[in-house]
Amino acid sequence: MRILLIEDEAKAAAFLAKGLREADFTVEIARDGETGLELARKEKFDLLIVDVMLPKKDGWEVVEQLRNEGSKAPILFLTARDSVPDRVKGLELGADDYLVKPFAFSELLARVRSLLRRSPQETGGEHLCIEDLDIDTRRHKAVRAGVALNLTPKEFLLLAHLARTPGEVVSRSAIVQQVWDLRFEPETNVVDVVVRRLRSKVDDPFDVKLVHTIRGVGYVLRRG
Ligand code: CA
Repeated sequence: MRILLIEDEAKAAAFLAKGLREADFTVEIARDGETGLELARKEKFDLLIVDVMLPKKDGWEVVEQLRNEGSKAPILFLTARDSVPDRVKGLELGADDYLVKPFAFSELLARVRSLLRRSPQETGGEHLCIEDLDIDTRRHKAVRAGVALNLTPKEFLLLAHLARTPGEVVSRSAIVQQVWDLRFEPETNVVDVVVRRLRSKVDDPFDVKLVHTIRGVGYVLRRG
């Protein structure tokens, strides 16, 4: 598994890279946003860890550009600014999870492993269908009305999770546990933001909406 770490602080980058290598990951380090973006375009990485405050190009721009170019690699962003708007912005631009500095390395490792987890049902694979939406969990492909949806791994897992129980409301805490493999953090907006991103791909281009919010409860996949 190859990880691209875009972090300008030399000590932090070295510390994280060392820990990740000890956990058997291959790690490349970029020290500014421009270099990171170039590397991410040129080479294949299984995961990106992107610091927000970076020279030349900030982490948000890097994430936004990569997603606009169709990159699907999971992205974890690191932010020193513990404010909700910052976290939401990173997620809206296409990151899949975030960590607020300072954090314990074990926490980073847990997030990385969660983002790299392909599917709870690693073997076998399923074919899930709802209306004109078709989900192939073995190939990690989702197609709606014949159009392939360009989903990040977390968006895909979330969609597949909702599609396993069509018509049933799934709570946000259940989604955090099942899809992110994390204990519920009440203040996190990860689920809401990734649902919004998912909706923009699964529903916005189509007349019939499938992803519905049940206020105060969670989300459900169903027709109307
Ligand atoms: Ca920085």
